[in-house]
Amino acid sequence: MSFASAVKMELCRSATENGCCKKAECCGLLLFGKSFSRADVTLTTGIQAVARSAAQLAAEETGAIMEVSSAMLHRGDSRVVFTLSAADQNARDAVLAAFGYTGREINLRINRSNMENDCCVGAFLRGAFLSCGTVSDPQKDYHLEFPVPFMNLARDLCALIGEIYELGFQPGMLQRRGAYVVYLKGSERIADFLTFMGAGNAAMELMQTKIVKEVRNNVNRKINFETANLGKTAQAAAAQVLAIEKILASPRGIHALPEDLQELAMLRYRSPEMSLRELGDTLSEPLSRSGINHRLQRIVDFSKEI
Ligand SMILES: [Zn+2]
Repeated sequence: MSFASAVKMELCRSATENGCCKKAECCGLLLFGKSFSRADVTLTTGIQAVARSAAQLAAEETGAIMEVSSAMLHRGDSRVVFTLSAADQNARDAVLAAFGYTGREINLRINRSNMENDCCVGAFLRGAFLSCGTVSDPQKDYHLEFPVPFMNLARDLCALIGEIYELGFQPGMLQRRGAYVVYLKGSERIADFLTFMGAGNAAMELMQTKIVKEVRNNVNRKINFETANLGKTAQAAAAQVLAIEKILASPRGIHALPEDLQELAMLRYRSPEMSLRELGDTLSEPLSRSGINHRLQRIVDFSKEI
């Protein structure tokens, strides 16, 4: 199941028992559906639980019968889309009237009288999100959006979210393929918003995913850093060992080297994993790192002349 579906399933489960909030949620569901006019009141969703709870809320709050049908999204695609439609003109008029609309509005707006109390704002947004919203998988991105077909409706939604004191941020708005997209970015904002709508578990999952991602990135960065360093040291040691092998294979063997380099050459040959400091400490006459570095360089240079 996608993260967005998990959020919607949780929102369906967290439905309220407050009468005022039920009305607000139902209004959000239908107003942000596919169409909301005298000719057509329809909501489409990929989640059966959303269609079912919208039909039940609509019956309770407006007395209208809404019919649910299902169909394959595309031929050969196993995904199903559920369509919820007011059964007839009486049902459509009942839905519109219940929320204070005539169905003849030129500009569809949010009618705030459907949110009687402060508690109703979260319920209204839950309905709107269930109807048209989506949220990215936190493994990939932190993005939540409501694509809305009407500009003024999108603006009203933006303003409504921006006024919520507990959240304290203004959503963004952009236009995409004929829709007005109200969106939120950032893990913390999205987690707060999910909690506000009633999806506290999804919010927690999002923040946990974020922590795991951060830890993994830190570990990866450290490993990359260490292997890069190890790479350089190991490469240098391998070049030294090859140089010493070449000297050992020459007619005079190790004695081809100046005497002050012989002990170090044999030590390096036997211990390619030793650091410069360890080499310096192991010699019969200990040497500094830079002294070792200088002599190893001389050994490599010497081998090139053979
Ligand atoms: Zn309420």
